[in-house]
Amino acid sequence: MLSYRHGFHAGNHADVLKHFVTIQLLNYLGQKDAAYTYIDTHSGAGLYALDAGYASKNAEYETGIAPLWDRKDLPPALAEYVNLVKELNPSGKMRYYPGSPYCADKIMREQDRLRLFELHPSEIKILSENFRKLDAHAAAQGHRPTTRGKRVIITAGDGFEGLKALLPPPSRRGMVLIDPPYEVKDDYRRVKETVQDAALRFPTGVYAVWYPILQRMESKQLPERLKRIPGNGWLNVSLTIGGVTPDGFGLHSSGMFILNPPWTLEATLREVMPYLVSVLGKDAAATFTLESGETQVIGKGRGKP
Ligand code: SAM
Repeated sequence: MLSYRHGFHAGNHADVLKHFVTIQLLNYLGQKDAAYTYIDTHSGAGLYALDAGYASKNAEYETGIAPLWDRKDLPPALAEYVNLVKELNPSGKMRYYPGSPYCADKIMREQDRLRLFELHPSEIKILSENFRKLDAHAAAQGHRPTTRGKRVIITAGDGFEGLKALLPPPSRRGMVLIDPPYEVKDDYRRVKETVQDAALRFPTGVYAVWYPILQRMESKQLPERLKRIPGNGWLNVSLTIGGVTPDGFGLHSSGMFILNPPWTLEATLREVMPYLVSVLGKDAAATFTLESGETQVIGKGRGKP
């Protein structure tokens, strides 16, 4: 059952959308001095080599981070994300790509808390090892270790279940990233039920759900179901890099649904999404959508002719 390895997809267009949006959400929470908690229910390995192993097989990063790497005209919010990836690659060559736990660790402050879940026995080992290496690197440079004290807690287990016990967090401020593999259709049901339950336990939390946009019914229904969860508004953004190829191979489109989004996010997405479509779009089917509130569509963009 646990065959999904995120390494195959590291740095692709879906990761760009997910990690860019996650960084925006964390930045917003970091605007106040008060501590906040970041919970990643499906953490993956935390860090990926692009030039070896899984990621080099299909080179999916060529649909995402690669075309952004040398751009000099990045919108400022997107530049922050690309620079975070570049800091991981001090030689200037694109060799490593950060997963969501690493992105969060880089953005978050000493007083903030990371709570990371991962179910796959190999991925959890790599995730823990990656954070150990981060500590060693920080210590060698005379900086604080990232996992010092209770700042980072990594748990081997089911993130949907584990989340319940963490809400509301002691800080009463925080966000949850829910990013399952959707290999089994039960993931769609569990995502919706998890957000619904979490929003009752911690109504002021920010909830970000990544989802693939596929033909299957569950994929189409998920954002519609999430929109019905009571909260302080929602944003739903999608990025499509092109039409389906004749062999139907690969993922071309994905979305991020955010319940209780910061009010600043919509304006940032209005600026960045057309840019992403123009740089990552492969054909005239490339587009983005941006919706907020209940049903209203507030933006739509076209790709390359
Ligand atoms: N969030 C990561 C990132 O952006 O870098 C990628 C996560 S990947 C899409 C999904 C991960 O969830 C996989 O590593 C998989 O092993 C793990 N997983 C699958 N089911 C899980 C569950 N019920 N609880 C926790 N982790 C799970």
